Amino acid sequence: MKISVVGTGYVGLVSGTCFAETGINVTCVDVDDKKIEKLNNGIIPIYEPGLEDIYKKNVEKGRLVFTTNLAESLENADALFIAVGTPPDEDGSADLKYVLGVAREIGKNIDHYMVIATKSTVPVGTSKKVKEAIQDELDKRGVKVAFDVASNPEFLKEGNAVQDFLKPDRIVIGTESKRAQKVMKRLYKPFLLNGHPIVFMDITSSEMTKYAANSMLATKISFINEIANLCEIVGADVESVRKGIGSDPRIGNKFIYAGTGYGGSCFPKDVQALIRTADEHKYSLEILKAVERVNNRQKSVLFDKVLNYFDGDLKGKKFAMWGLSFKPKTDDMREAPALVIIEKLLAAGAKVCGYDPVAMEEGKRILGDKIEFAKDEYDATIDADALLLVTEWPEFRIPNFRVLEKLLKNKVIFDGRNIYDPEELAELSFDYFAIGRKPVKH
Ligand code: NAD
Repeated sequence: MKISVVGTGYVGLVSGTCFAETGINVTCVDVDDKKIEKLNNGIIPIYEPGLEDIYKKNVEKGRLVFTTNLAESLENADALFIAVGTPPDEDGSADLKYVLGVAREIGKNIDHYMVIATKSTVPVGTSKKVKEAIQDELDKRGVKVAFDVASNPEFLKEGNAVQDFLKPDRIVIGTESKRAQKVMKRLYKPFLLNGHPIVFMDITSSEMTKYAANSMLATKISFINEIANLCEIVGADVESVRKGIGSDPRIGNKFIYAGTGYGGSCFPKDVQALIRTADEHKYSLEILKAVERVNNRQKSVLFDKVLNYFDGDLKGKKFAMWGLSFKPKTDDMREAPALVIIEKLLAAGAKVCGYDPVAMEEGKRILGDKIEFAKDEYDATIDADALLLVTEWPEFRIPNFRVLEKLLKNKVIFDGRNIYDPEELAELSFDYFAIGRKPVKH
C-alpha cells in the first residue's frame, strides 16, 4: 500500500514513520522546506523517544520519503492523512486554513480513488468542509474522480508518541463509506494485533470524540488542582487525597496529579475550541469554561508562593528553573506553564536561569536572552535565591540535596509537581513548598 501524510509535526512525522514501519510506502509532505531539507538529511526536527531509530531504518529501506510537493505524493496513493496544525483563531475556535488549504490542493491534483483522512484535531463539521473543498476544485477542473473522506482523530501523547502509535488503545474512524472502512481497516490492522479495537462511527461523532477525550483529561487536571488549592487552605495533603481517591476504579489513578496547570499544543486549544463550538450552537459548556479558568489561575500558583516567601520583593533575585517543556520527554514548550512563571518573575524584576534536558534549543528560540540557560541542573542553581521545579523530568527526581545546599544562596525549593518528599527536605533543613501540601518552613 502507499499513503501520503501531509504535515510533518509531532503527529504527521510519527504517524508517517510508524506506518512505514509496517511495510507501507509513505510520502511525508510539508510546506516548510527547511523541515523537509532536514528530514532528507537525516535530521529529525522534533524530540520524540524512539523515533530516530525507526525513521532511519525506514528511510534506508526507501519506504519513507519527504517532499514539499503534495501533488507528487498523491501518485498511486491509497490514502492521504491530513496532519497539519489547527492553531486557535483569535476567538479560540480552531483555525482551519491549513486543513482546508490541503483539501484544495488535493482537489487540484487527485486523479484516482483514495481516502482522505483528517488526523488533525478539527471541530465538528470539518470533514464535510474538506469534502466540499476537494469537490469544488474537481468541479473547477471539470473532472469526475471518486474519493471518500474520513475522520481519524489521533490520540498519541507527546513523549510517548511512537509507542502510542504502534500500540494504540483504540483507533477511531468516522466515515460513512464501506470502501473507506476497508482501506482504513487494512492500514491499521498491523497496529491492532494486541486485540485493541478499531471503532467505526459516523463522522460527526468521531470529530466530537477527540475533543471529548482531551476535555475530559483537562477536566481531571483542573479538578485535582482545585482540590489541591483547598487542601492547602484546610491543612490536608493532596498527595494522600490523590491516593485515597485514585484506587477507586471509577475514578482511576491517572491524570489526577496536582501541579502548575496543563499546557502543550492540545489541551488549551482543544478546550477553547470545544467551548467555541458549543457557543456557536448557543449552548454554554459551563464545566469546560471553569476548567479553563482554573487552569489559567493554576499557572500562577508557584509564582505566588515565591512572591509570598520573599515578602513581595523579587527585584534583583535570581531563580533556578528546572524544566521548561510543558511535560517531560518532549521539547514542546507550547503553552508551557514555565513560560507564564518566567514572564511573571521577569516582570517582578527577577532573573531566571533555566535548564531542561531536551528543550534548551526550543527555550532559546522562544525566550532568546530573556533568561540565562545553564549547562546542567546544578549549574542553574549557582547563587540562586531559590530552586523552582516546573517539569518533572525523571533526572530531577532524586537530586543531591547536599550539593544543592552548597550551590543555592537560600535553602528553599518550590516544587510545582510534588516530586519531593517534604519529610526528607525538613530533615535536611530546606524550606519546601509544593502544590496542595503543607509547607515546610524553618
Ligand atoms: P505541528 O505544529 O507540530 O505540525 C504541523 C505541521 O504542518 C508543520 O510542520 C507545518 O509546517 C505543516 N503544515 C502546515 N500547513 C501545511 C500545508 N498546507 N501542507 C503541508 N504541511 C503543512 O502540529 P502537531 O502537534 O503535529 O499537530 C497537528 C494536528 O494534530 C493538530 O490539529 C493537533 O491538534 C493534532 N494533535 C496533536 C497531538 C500532539 O500531541 N501534538 C496529538 C493529537 C492530535
